[in-house]
Amino acid sequence: MDFRISDEQQMAVDSIRRFLDDVVRPAVAEYDDTFIPKERMQELLKQLLDFGLGNGLASEDDGGMGLDPVTFGLLFEELARVSPDVSIVVLIQEETGLLLSAAPDEIKSAYLGPLLAGDKFGSIGISEPAVGSNIADIRCRARADGDDLLISGEKQWISNGHYSDFNITVAKESDDGAAGIGIYLVDRDQGYESQNIPKIALNRQSTAQLFFDNVRIPRAQTLFPPGEGLKRLMTLLEGSRPLVGLMAVGIAQAALDYSIEYAKEREQHGKPIGAHQLIQARVAEMAVKVEASRLMLYKALDQVDRGTRSDLQSGMAKYFATEAACEVTRHAMAIHGGNGVTREFPVEELYRMAPILTVTEGTPEMQKLIIGRSLLGMPAF
Ligand SMILES: Cc1cc2nc3c(=O)[nH]c(=O)nc-3n(C[C@H](O)[C@H](O)[C@H](O)COP(=O)(O)OP(=O)(O)OC[C@H]3O[C@@H](n4cnc5c(N)ncnc54)[C@H](O)[C@@H]3O)c2cc1C
Repeated sequence: MDFRISDEQQMAVDSIRRFLDDVVRPAVAEYDDTFIPKERMQELLKQLLDFGLGNGLASEDDGGMGLDPVTFGLLFEELARVSPDVSIVVLIQEETGLLLSAAPDEIKSAYLGPLLAGDKFGSIGISEPAVGSNIADIRCRARADGDDLLISGEKQWISNGHYSDFNITVAKESDDGAAGIGIYLVDRDQGYESQNIPKIALNRQSTAQLFFDNVRIPRAQTLFPPGEGLKRLMTLLEGSRPLVGLMAVGIAQAALDYSIEYAKEREQHGKPIGAHQLIQARVAEMAVKVEASRLMLYKALDQVDRGTRSDLQSGMAKYFATEAACEVTRHAMAIHGGNGVTREFPVEELYRMAPILTVTEGTPEMQKLIIGRSLLGMPAF
C-alpha cells in the first residue's frame, strides 16, 4: 500500500492548479449560476484537454491520454474544487469516450476522435421522467424499421444534454427486461430536441430533458445490442461513481478552505473565531470527513485501475463522500454566520451544490442497497 503520489503526479497537479486559478476560476465567475453558452464551454473544454481532462481516460491508441484512474482522479478533483459545473462536462465527455472506445469500429471512428478533440459534446441518456433508480424499467423504445431503428421516448436529467452533438441512448427493443435493453448512438442532426432543466445549483452547465419522436437511425448505430447494454452501463457506473465522489470532495475541500480563511479573519469575543474551541471542532470534523472521503475514493479508483470488481468500494465511497460534502458545506455556512447565507460569500452555493451529487449516478439508498447486496450476497432491489 502506497499513499504517496509520484513526482510526476504532483507536477501535473501543480500545473493544473495554476491553470485553473488563472483561467477557469475567472471564466466561471462571470456566470452567476447561469448557463455558460456552448461556444464558451467548448473553449474551456479544449483548454482542459491539454491536462488530460476530457480525454484523459481513453487509451493512447484511441487518441486519449491513457491516464490511470488515480492520476485522472487527482486532476479531476482539482477541477471540481474550482468549478463543479465544468467538472460535470468533463466527466460526461470521459464517460462517453469510454463507451465509444468499446463501440463497433464504424461508430468509434466517426465519433471518438471529435469527442476527444472537444469538437463534439457527448451525453448519456439513461434516466427518464418515470425511471431513475431502476434502470431495467426504461421505456424509451428502439423499433426496427427495415435496416433502421426508430427511437422514441424521453430522457430526463441528461448532463451535457443541451450541449450535446450526440446522445448515447439507452432504449429497449423488446419487453424482456434487461435482455431487451440496448445502447444506441443518436446524432443531434438525426432529430432529437433538448431543453434545460433549472436546478437549485449547477446551472452553469446543462442538465436537460431530451425528446425523441421516432428518430430514425441506421441499425449500425447500435453501440451495444440488447442483452449487453445493461452490463456495460453497470461497469461504466462502477468506474465513474468514485469520480462523482471526487466532485463532492472538491466541493467539500473548497468549503473547508474558505472556512479556514474566514475563521482566521473574523473576530468575535476579542479573538479570531478560529481560536474558539467549538469552531475548531467544526473545522476538525470537516477536515476528517474530507480526508476519509478522499481515501475511500482513491482506493475505489485503484480497484478500478486493477480491473477488479469495485461495486462495493465504489458504492461505499460515493455514498460516504457525497453525504459528507452535505455535512461539510453545512458546517462552512455555520462558520460564516450571517455571511454564510448571503450570495456575497461562496459557501452558500457550495451548500446548494452538494446534495445534487448525492442523486447523480445513484442515490444514497441505491448505494446502500449495492453495499448490502455485495455483503449479504442477495439483492434487495
Ligand atoms: C444533476 C443531475 C445530473 C444527472 N445526469 C444524468 C445523466 O447524464 N444521464 C442520466 O441518464 N441520468 C442522469 N441523472 C439522473 C440520475 O441518475 C437519477 O436522478 C437518479 O438515478 C435517481 O433517479 P430518480 O431521480 O428517478 O429518482 P427515483 O428513482 O424516483 O428515486 C426517488 C427516491 O426513491 C428512492 N428509491 C428508489 N428505489 C428505491 C428502493 N428500491 N429502495 C429504497 N429507496 C428507493 C431513491 O433513493 C430516492 O430517494 C442526473 C441527475 C441529476 C440530478
